[in-house]
Amino acid sequence: MSDRVIPLVDQRLSGLVARVPERAIPATGLLGDTLGRPLRDLRISVTDRCNFRCSYCMPKSIFDKDYQYLPHSDLLSFEEITRIARQFVAHGVQKIRLTGGEPLLRKHLEILIEQLSALRTTEDKPLDITLTTNGSLLRKKAAALKAAGLQRVTVSLDGLDDAVFRAMNDVDFPVADVLDGIAAAQDAGLGPIKVNMVVKRGTNEDQILPMARHFKGSGVTLRFIEYMDVGATNGWRMDEVLPSAEVVQRIHAELPLVQLDPSAPGETAERWGYADGTGEIGVISSVTQAFCSDCNRARLSTEGKLYLCLFASQGHDLRALVRGQANDEQLASAIGQIWQGRDDRYSEFRASLPPDASTGGRRVEMSYIGG
Ligand code: SAM
Ligand code: SF4
Ligand code: SF4
Repeated sequence: MSDRVIPLVDQRLSGLVARVPERAIPATGLLGDTLGRPLRDLRISVTDRCNFRCSYCMPKSIFDKDYQYLPHSDLLSFEEITRIARQFVAHGVQKIRLTGGEPLLRKHLEILIEQLSALRTTEDKPLDITLTTNGSLLRKKAAALKAAGLQRVTVSLDGLDDAVFRAMNDVDFPVADVLDGIAAAQDAGLGPIKVNMVVKRGTNEDQILPMARHFKGSGVTLRFIEYMDVGATNGWRMDEVLPSAEVVQRIHAELPLVQLDPSAPGETAERWGYADGTGEIGVISSVTQAFCSDCNRARLSTEGKLYLCLFASQGHDLRALVRGQANDEQLASAIGQIWQGRDDRYSEFRASLPPDASTGGRRVEMSYIGG
């Protein structure tokens, strides 16, 4: 395994300066990038730390006791996050997802959720606020998160077999505790709950059917994610990707499925319903079927850099503006200008990239900008 690990180039250190344009770009909610894609979805990473060491995300060989996480003073405060989020919402964002690292490790996260849930979209509607978590702290926190205004959660779970799951999280965390966290979230009313499973050929592919059987009819939507070449440390190889089409075939052979229409534009998951009407599954085919053409997602890193694509190597430093002299109008204009210049569509080009580019030697880590 270690012979496949690529030395980490610390992309957190480099950043693009976010400038305030000379002419203001008013926030009309109608912003488009160079490909006409609107800005609708903001993913905010609230910490770069995690209590798991999933090999596809934070392999132990890199994220060891000597790894330098961001110092606390570099992290955006809740007030800074909310101020930035308000400008994104004015530009048309309708959905905010909190992520990380493990977002529930950030102290007093409920306070941020309270602040964000007070924001209103350009149509004066509440935002859709959600959170992606490994579930380890959900039993402890579900009720407080709900009370603060969180609507739903997505829980990552890569298998039901305890040995397989403990090996994948690489910190020996038991599957029963994550299942208990999901139950706590359901009890607290944090639904509809989604469960995300990253599928790695040869590692947890034997968990596809047990996971489908377990969540069928439970009200939880299970989504299978293709293992992605994100970051620079996981030693990604195409032969470890199990295409979503194969996941659907395997499930369909035992539990017949019918394809469903997308529920929203820009949705990442393709939906399949059980033919007997007992719920649905989703597949997220970031590798085998690019969905860049309607990608409406922006990502704000833990230290306030705006990333326009999961596979970008650099982010635009908004923290410098927030901690500098910029007023809200200037901050909104800077965000508007950055989005208007966006032309990212990495997944559409993946197959034609040179091999060293497709192993991502210069990309930021998923644990730093969130999923
Ligand atoms: N710690 C939280 C969790 O695991 O849900 C939130 C952050 S995690 C980076 C967000 C999502 O990214 C998780 O569902 C995780 O499985 C997924 N992820 C991380 N690395 C990935 C990779 N190389 N390919 C596909 N999905 C990945
Ligand atoms: Fe942690 Fe989530 Fe990454 Fe796993 S996927 S190491 S739980 S941040
Ligand atoms: Fe969006 Fe980049 Fe993913 Fe394409 S590769 S869908 S642009 S995040």
